[in-house]
This record gives sequence, structure tokens and C-alpha cells, in this order.
Amino acid sequence: SRGDASLWFYTLTAVASVGIFIGYSFWRKPRKTLTVSSSQPVSDDMPQESAAGLYSSSASGSQDIFKAITEQSTEGISIADTDGNYVYVNPAFCTMMGYPEAELLCMTVFDVKAPEQDHSSFEKTKTSHEGAPFEVVLQRKDGSTFIAEVLGKNIHINGEHLVMGTVRDISEQVKAEERTRTLYQAVEQSPISVMIIDTEGLIKYVNSAFEISTGIPINEILGVSLLTLAPEGKSQNRYSEVWAQLLKGISWEGELLTRKKDGDSFWEYGHFSAVKDIYGKTIHYIALKEDISLRKSQEEKILKQAHFDTLTGLPNRFLSLDRLSRILNDANRNQELAALLFLDLDDFKKVNDTLGHETGDKLLVEAASRLKGTVRAGDTVGRLGGDEFIVLMGGLNAPDNAAQIAESLIELFRAAFRIDNREMLLTASIGIALYPADGATPSELLRNADSAMYHAKSQGRNTYSFFTSQMNREVSRRLAVEEQIHGAISRNEFSVHYQPIVDTISRNVIGAEALLRWHNPALGNTDPDEFIPIAEQTGLIVPMGQFVLVEALNHAARWQQQYNPDFLISINLSPRQFRDPDLVNLIRRTITESRINAGTLEFEITEGVLMTGHSYINDAIDALHRLHMTIAMDDFGTGYSSLSYLRNYPFNVLKIDRSFVSAIACSEGDQELISAAVAMAHGLKLRVVAEGVETEEQLDYLQSTGCDYCQGFLFGKPMPAEEFKATVFG
Ligand code: C2E
Ligand code: CA
Ligand code: CA
Repeated sequence: SRGDASLWFYTLTAVASVGIFIGYSFWRKPRKTLTVSSSQPVSDDMPQESAAGLYSSSASGSQDIFKAITEQSTEGISIADTDGNYVYVNPAFCTMMGYPEAELLCMTVFDVKAPEQDHSSFEKTKTSHEGAPFEVVLQRKDGSTFIAEVLGKNIHINGEHLVMGTVRDISEQVKAEERTRTLYQAVEQSPISVMIIDTEGLIKYVNSAFEISTGIPINEILGVSLLTLAPEGKSQNRYSEVWAQLLKGISWEGELLTRKKDGDSFWEYGHFSAVKDIYGKTIHYIALKEDISLRKSQEEKILKQAHFDTLTGLPNRFLSLDRLSRILNDANRNQELAALLFLDLDDFKKVNDTLGHETGDKLLVEAASRLKGTVRAGDTVGRLGGDEFIVLMGGLNAPDNAAQIAESLIELFRAAFRIDNREMLLTASIGIALYPADGATPSELLRNADSAMYHAKSQGRNTYSFFTSQMNREVSRRLAVEEQIHGAISRNEFSVHYQPIVDTISRNVIGAEALLRWHNPALGNTDPDEFIPIAEQTGLIVPMGQFVLVEALNHAARWQQQYNPDFLISINLSPRQFRDPDLVNLIRRTITESRINAGTLEFEITEGVLMTGHSYINDAIDALHRLHMTIAMDDFGTGYSSLSYLRNYPFNVLKIDRSFVSAIACSEGDQELISAAVAMAHGLKLRVVAEGVETEEQLDYLQSTGCDYCQGFLFGKPMPAEEFKATVFG
């Protein structure tokens, strides 16, 4: 196993032996008396100068050569007679053993052996023809031991049989070998697949992990080219790539597919590098590879989850925007247009709320597959979340291309959706933003397409709209409102105005609707239609609603005490306010504190409040009803105008939306609708208020229908409390 080392060892000892032979012939003659018996320790009659003295006694050229060789040798050299008595030791041997030369010359070869070492090796050497190296543990003067490799050789000088030993301390070497053995075992047992490849690319060694992971037995792989590990097909390139790089002297690291015996393949993370000798020449290559197939499959799963919507399988927001940025790059390079279509299903929330999420999900899946079926091959359909989808198109020549697609998408929704044996009609609103005109980045285009979509919704839905800079202004206005509305309460920027509600026949003011007003130094006066939805979304409507309630009740209580105990005050409650668990308590507290007559308080709610179907809304409405408060359905005619709501909830009043009232003059259909609504409300024992009455003509008609009350500019605009008091009671 020590091939190279022993070669070197023999070369050296051969040289030494020649030298010793020459030297011995000079000093041996006068030293017949030198021989001492093996059992004898150092004694007085033994000459103390020993061999060293002998060299000096005979000054000749050959002796110098001998001395030079033996004294310079790093090998320990000793010569003993057949009984084992040392007759010569060189300085290296003395150093090795830790004894002075004189002492050693009084000792035997057996004295320097560590205990438990038998004497057979010396006896064997003595009788053998050729010297053979053996290992023996020697003990130094200080008691420490070391492993020595001894080459014993019989020599005959002037007819005398002597045994020469060349001694080398191989403790380090043995330790190194042990290390190598341990290392080898570690490599063998390592869970990492290890492979040694020669400079021709042939596999020279694989460990058992290799066998286990690939299923290829060692005997089938040794001597085979590295490239055969690549699986059939395209990933063949990886192993070729590795080999090409190694040949260039560069290490390779990365993921690669490896063939298994059964033809399958699996993912590994591999590290390939050259092993070089001390001159820097590559002697072979080593490959360490780890089976990462499990991690890889988990990664793929996570990647899929991170990039695709689980419900519809469409690219999600993240992947969609990533694709968009690629489309924009291409469009930029090719000087083409790209379009982003932002598609939102109309009234999808109602589907979810009324038919349940399961049906809603089925509808989304069906909508997604319809969308996917319509777009061109290279286009992307993605789902941003909820009922929002986007369609990405590159390589357009004119904005018209996008419009055509938008039209065909809207057309696509014409056909009814069949879900659970139920036919449903679903429309969509689409906003379009074009690159480069409407934005340079994915997020800018997305934002603008979103604004355009909202515009399409405001145009009556089921349509599409291109982005315009006007929308941009709307968006920045919206952002400004959002920013300013925070803290508006503490800055005292809100106030409440009161609009008279009159008896249709007598025109007497019977009460007022409280309407919130906001004056902000930066934005000026902002319409409730603009800030109420934002207050709803941010939740700020809750403290704002409290403010209105306290203000309105305090004023109304005073007016009741001073002028009219039956004066009615009507307050708007929006959906978000019902989510406040403290709503009913707050109302109760405020009634007590303001000392208002509870029977004169009215709350206006829209159908939107009821549509969410949450039980806490029903509970709150019931509680208000039990407190003897009037409940009015606001904006009747704009939503579903569902009779079932009117029947199932304790409404007392129906407020006909001003859009019907304003249409009285021009449309007979609207006139009939109002008449029908009034008749129906009366049938359900509800009183009716017509909103937005601006002209005598409108009033005339409303009087003819039997409508109970009216509200509108004809009788008075919403006014601050002082002005209201002066105008109405003044
Ligand atoms: P709404 O409840 O339908 O309120 C009536 C709206 O019609 C008011 O608009 C009023 O100024 C307007 N109006 C009254 N008479 C006429 C008329 O003759 N012609 C026309 N064209 N309009 C008339 P305003 O004050 O801008 O309020 C808009 C909406 O904001 C309200 O609609 C209501 O839904 C909401 N809102 C206002 N104040 C509050 C509030 O304190 N709390 C809540 N939750 N919502 C409020
Ligand atoms: Ca109202
Ligand atoms: Ca209204």
C-alpha cells in the first residue's frame, strides 16, 4: 500500500548500504574486541569511544565518504552482530532513540524494542537471504515509543556475519494512513454521492451513496464515461456542459438531472472540480452530488403556488406583472404597442352574498376558462384576486386592436353561465391602458387600467373604457381625499346640514334629513358622494357617523323643545357603520343624553346594507325597531328595489330616488313607476318620501300619486343649523 514511499525508502537505503560497506572495511579490523554480549548492560570494560573513535583513528578518503553518508543520512542506521549487540549506530539513529551513541553501543537490538514486541523479526532477518522490511515499535530512552520501519540486511565483512538495520520513523505515515482510512470510510458511508473521474472522463470510483441514489452497481459504472450519467433527451447538455467546463480548468456547480438504472432520472446538486498534484497538473476530477429531488419537487410546488392562482389555475398577480414587464420590454424593442385590459365582473359580490362562495367560485372558474379561450395564443390572462382579471397583449399596431379584444370579451359574457343547473347572467367592465401612452411601468399601467375600469363601471357597467388623463386626475384627487380625511374629525372640519322634509299637500316642514358636510383647507368643499365611500373603506365612517348623530340629535332636541315636539330628524347609516358592535348602544346613549323623543328619530339605509346578509345587521335593525325608531329605505329604485326586503324588514318609510323624480317631466314610464312604487309602499303600510323635488311640476305629479312627503331644492337646500332654524322656524 505504500508503493511510492517504499520505493523512495529502498533507493535511499541502497545508497547508504554501499557507503557503510566501504566504511566498515576500514574500521572493522582493529576492533575485534568490540563485540559485547547481548545481555550485558553498559560496563566499564567497554570502550567508550566506540565507532566514532574508530573513524577518527583511521583517516582516509573512504572513511570520510562513509562518515559523510551515514552522518548526513536522515535514516537511522545501526549494525549489530548476530547476537544483537550494536557495533555501530549513526547520529540519526541516536537522535531517533534519544540515547547517546556510547550508550547505544553497549546495548542490543532487543533493548530498544518496546515491551510486548517479540524478537522474531531479528531472528528472521538473520537467517533470511534477502532483507525484508518489517514494522516494529521502538522505545526511546525517555520511555516514549514510535513505529519504525526497519529494513534488516545480512552483511558479511571480512568473513564476519553482521546484521544491518536501516530504521525509519513512520509514525506520521501510519497516522496519515489511518486518516486516509477514516476518510475513505467517511466517503464510503457519506450520504453524498462521490465520484472520481479520470482525465479522460472515465469514472474511476463511486461510493455507495452513488449506487443507492442511481441504482447502478459499481461494476457497471467503473470505467464508463461520465456523460452516460445524463438522462436521455435535452438535459444531456448538463453533463456535457460540466465536462466541457472541467476541461477548461473551471469547477462546475449546480443542479443537474442524473440517469437512474431503471431509465428514470432525478435532480442532484453537484460540485465538480479538478484534483491536482503538487505541480498543479490535474490528475483526476472529483464530483460530489446530493440528491435534491425531494427539495426540487417541493420547490416546484411552492413555485406553482407562488405564481398561479389555485382556484382558476391562471397566472396570479405576481406572475402576471412579471409577464407584463416582459411584454413591455418586447414592445419597447420592437416599437410596438402593448395593452393591459383590467376586467372586473359586475355585481359579483351579490352572487357571493346571495348564492354562496361555492357558487361564486364555480362562476369564477367558468369565467376564467372563457377568458382563456378568447385571447390570442401569446396573450396572458391572469387573475389579480377576487373577481378581477387582466389580459395582457403585446405586439399591437393600433389602440383599436385592444378595443376589439375588449368588445369580444364583453360579448363573451353574453351567454348565460350554467352553474349547478342554474342559469346566470354575468357582465364585466373593462378598463384599458396602453403602453407606452398610459404608463411606462407595469404598476403604472395597472393603476391606470384600474381607473379606466372604474370609469367603465360608472358608465353603467358591461362596457369598456380607455384610460384618459382625466381619470388620472380623479385618481390623484382620490388619493388626496384619502390623505386628508384622516384627522379631519380632530381638526373640526365636519359639520351637519339639514334639509327640510315637507308634507306633499300642505308643504309644512315635518322634519329634516341630516347630511354631512366637509370643509378641508386643501381640498375645499368635498361632496359626500366623494368622501363617504372613502370613509366607508377606511372605516372612518364610524367616528364620522357618531359625530353626525350627536350633532343632529342635539339640534333636533332643541328644535323640538322650542318649536315642534313632533319634529322628525332623519339620519343616514351606511353599511360599514353596522359593523360597529357599539352602534345600537351609541344611539341609545345619544337619545338619552340629548333628551330627544325616540319616536321622532328616523334612520335611512340602502339596500346595500341588507344585501350582505350578515346577521349582525339584522340584529341591529331589529334593535332599532324595538327602540321605536323609524326605518326608511333610501334611494329606492336604484338598486334591486326588491320587494322581499321591504316585506322582511321592519321598514316604515320608502324614499324614492331623485333620479325618478327628475325624470317625471320627460318620461311617462318613470311617472308610472313612481305611481306604482307609491301604491306598493302604501300596500305595505309604508309612508313615501320623494327625493330631489326641484319643480312645481314635479310636485304636482307627486301630489297626484298620493306621495306623503317631499324633499328637494324646491323647499330648501341642506342648510347649516342656524340657517335652518331661521328659515324653517324663524
Ligand atoms: P342621500 O341620502 O340620497 O341624500 C340626499 C342627497 O340629495 C343629498 O346629497 C342632497 O344634497 C341631495 N339633494 C337634496 N335635494 C335635492 C334636489 O332637489 N336636487 C338634487 N339634485 N339633489 C338634491 P349630499 O348631501 O351630497 O349627500 C349625498 C349622499 O351622501 C347622501 O345621499 C347619503 O347617501 C350620503 N350621506 C350624506 N350625509 C351622510 C351621513 O351623515 N352619513 C352617511 N352614512 N351618509 C351620508
Ligand atoms: Ca338619505
Ligand atoms: Ca336618498
